Amino acid sequence: MEGFPDRLARVREMLSLAAESAGRPVSDISIMGVTKTRSLQEILAAASIGGLTLFGENRIQEALPKISSWPEDLPVEWHLIGHLQKNKARKALLNFTMIQSLDSIELADILERISLEIGRQGVPVLLEVNTSGESSKYGVKPEDASYIASYICENCRNLSLQGLMTVGPLTEDEKQIRSAFGLLRGLLVSIGKDLNKTLPVLSMGMSYDFHWAVEEGSTMVRIGSALFGTREYN
Ligand SMILES: *Cc1c(COP(=O)(O)O)cnc(C)c1O
Repeated sequence: MEGFPDRLARVREMLSLAAESAGRPVSDISIMGVTKTRSLQEILAAASIGGLTLFGENRIQEALPKISSWPEDLPVEWHLIGHLQKNKARKALLNFTMIQSLDSIELADILERISLEIGRQGVPVLLEVNTSGESSKYGVKPEDASYIASYICENCRNLSLQGLMTVGPLTEDEKQIRSAFGLLRGLLVSIGKDLNKTLPVLSMGMSYDFHWAVEEGSTMVRIGSALFGTREYN
């Protein structure tokens, strides 16, 4: 039976091929293991056997028991990649290295206030953009991204904007998927220019579209099922 090491090897192989075809060094792209529905044991194996050092979780309630039981001698980063409800902002700030799902000015203000309260400075955040226009998706509208990014940089001194994040459209159409990723990359470049700031992170690409995301400039792919197998929700 195929296990985690085989799946990881295949993901790494696809990543190398995509990077090569884009003329990019594969070392520019980090792999996040997306661990929603996965047990602590599975994640521990992914870190200790697979050497993954970056994990993403969608929900605070599900993530906290995993993060709080994580062994200190196995240092990894936890990133929040699911929508953050305002009343859970404090827990998010206390437990996650990066918040990739910043999707409103209101949430930025709350994160700023609470990070001051708890004495956490320079909290890395990504602005999530809804590049597909699908109403089921979170994220700010592409046309609002520049204004919101500049708001964060000017008014939220405790937050450190590192780049942009998106979830690609729900389709198998390569052109549509690539155009969403291309849109995000274009925004990263233009926002970086507007703010006169280097924004190093472009978080895009999941199990079924990460090769296209890499060709469109992704610096961080978020992989769940291709690494851990099909998810079963209970
Ligand atoms: C679940 C999820 C992923 C991973 O999805 P897979 O298709 O299993 O790779 C990546 N990003 C976000 C925001 C997710 O919610």
